[in-house]
Amino acid sequence: MNNKNIRRIVIVGGGTAGWMAASGLVALLPKGDYDITLIESEQIGTVGVGEATIPLIRIFNHNLGVNEAEFMRKTGATFKLGIEFHNWKSSGQHYFHPFGKYGRELDAVPFHQYWMRAREHGKCAELSELSLCEVMARAKKFAPNSTDPKSVLSTMGYAYHLDAGLYAKFLREYSESRGVTRIEGKVTDVRLREADGYIESVQLESSRIVEGDLFIDCSGFRGLLIEEALKTGYEDWSHLLPCDRALAVPSENAGQKRPYTMSIAHAAGWQWRIPLQHRTGNGHIFCSKYMSEDEATGILLSNLEGEALAEPRLLPFKTGRRKKFWNKNCVAIGLSAGFMEPLESTSIHLIQQAVGQLIGLFPVAEINEAEVEQFNAMTIRDYELIRDFLVLHYHVNERPEDFWQMCRTMDIPESLQQRIALFNNRGRLFIEQENLFKPTSWLAVLYGQGLYPAGYDPMADRREAKEVDNFLGDISRSFAKATDAMPLHDDFIDRNCKSDFA
Ligand SMILES: Cc1cc2nc3c(=O)[nH]c(=O)nc-3n(C[C@H](O)[C@H](O)[C@H](O)COP(=O)(O)OP(=O)(O)OC[C@H]3O[C@@H](n4cnc5c(N)ncnc54)[C@H](O)[C@@H]3O)c2cc1C
Repeated sequence: MNNKNIRRIVIVGGGTAGWMAASGLVALLPKGDYDITLIESEQIGTVGVGEATIPLIRIFNHNLGVNEAEFMRKTGATFKLGIEFHNWKSSGQHYFHPFGKYGRELDAVPFHQYWMRAREHGKCAELSELSLCEVMARAKKFAPNSTDPKSVLSTMGYAYHLDAGLYAKFLREYSESRGVTRIEGKVTDVRLREADGYIESVQLESSRIVEGDLFIDCSGFRGLLIEEALKTGYEDWSHLLPCDRALAVPSENAGQKRPYTMSIAHAAGWQWRIPLQHRTGNGHIFCSKYMSEDEATGILLSNLEGEALAEPRLLPFKTGRRKKFWNKNCVAIGLSAGFMEPLESTSIHLIQQAVGQLIGLFPVAEINEAEVEQFNAMTIRDYELIRDFLVLHYHVNERPEDFWQMCRTMDIPESLQQRIALFNNRGRLFIEQENLFKPTSWLAVLYGQGLYPAGYDPMADRREAKEVDNFLGDISRSFAKATDAMPLHDDFIDRNCKSDFA
């Protein structure tokens, strides 16, 4: 029988990370065996951004048993089919990074190799016509995907744009109704055990002491437990991702809501537009070495599609990760664990991933070093693979400004150099099992940023040219036909999941 000494779980922080951790743990750990307490301070508040997600969030919601329509109504969510990148390679150019996959499988040869072969022979659909998500996004249409592999809808995937504050509230209701205890208060002291430096308790401003066996640090950028108390250390990645400031501002919606995120490159960074049911989230990520806050604010405000609803808010950050995500009896999740800019909407995913990995390695009688090491190794890998993908967007560009020239000439990780070299030769994409970004994503961004291989893989010559042309033609026609039959994104939301406040 298991001797469960680790019973009292204390989560510090009630932002997206804190409430995702609380809801994930209460949903998936054995019922009644654990006391889960979450401490948050309304006075300190949350970062209040983090509104674009990736399709795997649907697995998180599914594991919680959440009803999609209810979740969307309560969080003002819209659907997301991918990201449209503007001006990233060069001014005026744009491309789309779709969810789901390009085309359909024909045999063991990667789909894009057939596309490159047809393209080389001059008659071929554009890549943009060969992704159902992209075709739907351009038409501002939406329909959910299908699990039937025979349906064209099985080739698409979707995520959400959601209101971060409302999502935390939604998860709070979920968690409290299942037994999580919430304590309102400000942590002012963290007490360590003399013998081994483990966290014993946290003390609140009210003098109340909260003891625990396992502490989850969701306190945001400052890392109240993992850094301020345990001095874990931070690996700085600013040399690879040099942007260090964000300005965020909500605006009124203007026109139809796009079922995708927009990312628009500027002189020293980029701007996001995230459509929600009740407003649009906007922000400008920039590098303070190359642009002043005033200039960045001016660019952001002059590029809003609707009226600004507040003053822009500055959020400084340092890209990187904690040296250890799990240190002693403390696990850092969310901004306290590390930060990479929201270029591919990966932070909420990293929270979900950490919660899942913690559950998979949950300590029983005591903290076990092998489990801690496994958690840290897996999380470091997750961060590094995402980092490489983000660096690709910056490094491969043709923009003239100093910032972009610096990105073009900076040293990049060898792993990324190798991936680019492999693609440049024969378009080969060998993507590790654990890589969050699959071949569709790498192809979209490598090609979108302006790279094209010297030739295709000769394996694609296995098929007759005519057969390949017909195959590609059938796909683009079937995607166009399926999209024609779909409702507009706005209409789909109005009919199925409209918020009371939208
Ligand atoms: C500019 C920007 C844009 C982003 N966009 C995206 C995006 O599009 N997609 C995405 O996936 N992610 C995005 N992110 C990341 C995302 O916002 C975060 O991952 C997510 O919100 C989790 O934050 P958090 O809960 O870790 O921290 P916070 O939201 O900062 O929450 C910290 C919590 O700790 C509490 N706290 C702190 N100190 C104390 C104390 N002493 N006592 C008690 N409580 C305390 C606070 O009250 C709060 O409840 C973005 C981040 C930034 C900065």
